[in-house]
Amino acid sequence: MGNKYSQYGFDTKAIHAGETPDFRDGATGDVVVPIHLSTTFAREKVEEPTAGYEYTRSLNPTRKALEEKLAALENAKYAFAFSSGLAAETSVILALLKAGDHIIASDDLYGGTKRLFNKIFNEYKIEVSYIDTIDILNLEKSVRPNTRLVWLESPTNPLLKLSDIAAVSTITKKEGLILVVDNTFLSPYFQRPLSLGADIVLHSSTKYIGGHSDVLGGSVMLSDDNLYQKIQYYQNAVGAVLSPFDSYLTLRGIKTLGLRMQKHEENALLIGAFLEEHPNVTKVIYPGLKSHPQYDLVRKQTTGSGGIISFELKGNIDNSKHFLESLHLFALAESLGGVESLIELPALMTHASVSKEEREAIGITDTLIRLSVGIENIEDLITDLKNALDTYL
Ligand SMILES: *Cc1c(COP(=O)(O)O)cnc(C)c1O
Repeated sequence: MGNKYSQYGFDTKAIHAGETPDFRDGATGDVVVPIHLSTTFAREKVEEPTAGYEYTRSLNPTRKALEEKLAALENAKYAFAFSSGLAAETSVILALLKAGDHIIASDDLYGGTKRLFNKIFNEYKIEVSYIDTIDILNLEKSVRPNTRLVWLESPTNPLLKLSDIAAVSTITKKEGLILVVDNTFLSPYFQRPLSLGADIVLHSSTKYIGGHSDVLGGSVMLSDDNLYQKIQYYQNAVGAVLSPFDSYLTLRGIKTLGLRMQKHEENALLIGAFLEEHPNVTKVIYPGLKSHPQYDLVRKQTTGSGGIISFELKGNIDNSKHFLESLHLFALAESLGGVESLIELPALMTHASVSKEEREAIGITDTLIRLSVGIENIEDLITDLKNALDTYL
């Protein structure tokens, strides 16, 4: 799937992969793949589907174009597009696990993933151990006879902790486990987990890949033929596929992924440096800053640090609320990865479903703020933050 573009650079793949103009007889040479809304495809002969197309859940030309582009971006052989990040996760787990199996996961996984594991898959007798996956010995000790998957997010949300993907993959390979990496926070522009030894890369394409806060989606990239067969069967059998229109929006968003990621990072580095100097900020967590405790691993494993910054304010939870409500450009909203800057209070928003004890145990305090730095003018963003920081207490 994605191999055809392997000799090209990232931005060339982002623009051309999956969208080669069609010059066959009767085709029109579109440089942008059309939105194929048809749910079913007619054939001339009973046993010969036209160009392999039968029914859109199984295969759709617009979704196929997106899947080819997604595969190219992660240097993967195959990709799948699902209707949301959680739909992608559900389909992967259903395809690969059965009752009695065990997953080892990072302890501060995305809240929706934890809910899926704890409230849904738990009912189907799939067990999960949450551990600090920074600690490789700890990981090795947590492997049980029924362990099948290791599930990482790197960096994590909202504490931006990294796991050494290559080191984890030496353990998963030795133990015969499948390593899944949720690469949503960095996008394939800054991190390629397959090249570090992961078996499956997963994204909420709702975030950076789509990039415009207007389309929900999930993607799965991989190169192993056997895993591909299993997940392909489940993509069709479960049916949580991305619609043709949403496939088109995602294709459109991807074309500027490289440009956007560069600007997200450029703005985030400047905001990080500004926050570190502000007297009302007690802590800044951003992998691109030298103050990040895993800065060496950041340099080794990624080519950039993305647009998410977390920081702690002086004061209490009411002060935090006042700070958030006095911003003008940063929209007070959950989600991340779009062109517009967003801000949120994990304790009361994205991580409200996590108990206070659990939040505190992993370091999500009442004054921890998460920023998704957009691509607006940096002067305007810093002015907005400065005005609120100078006055909220
Ligand atoms: C948003 C998100 C998800 C879930 O994706 P949806 O598209 O919202 O279903 C999974 N993982 C991470 C890291 C996310 O940020």
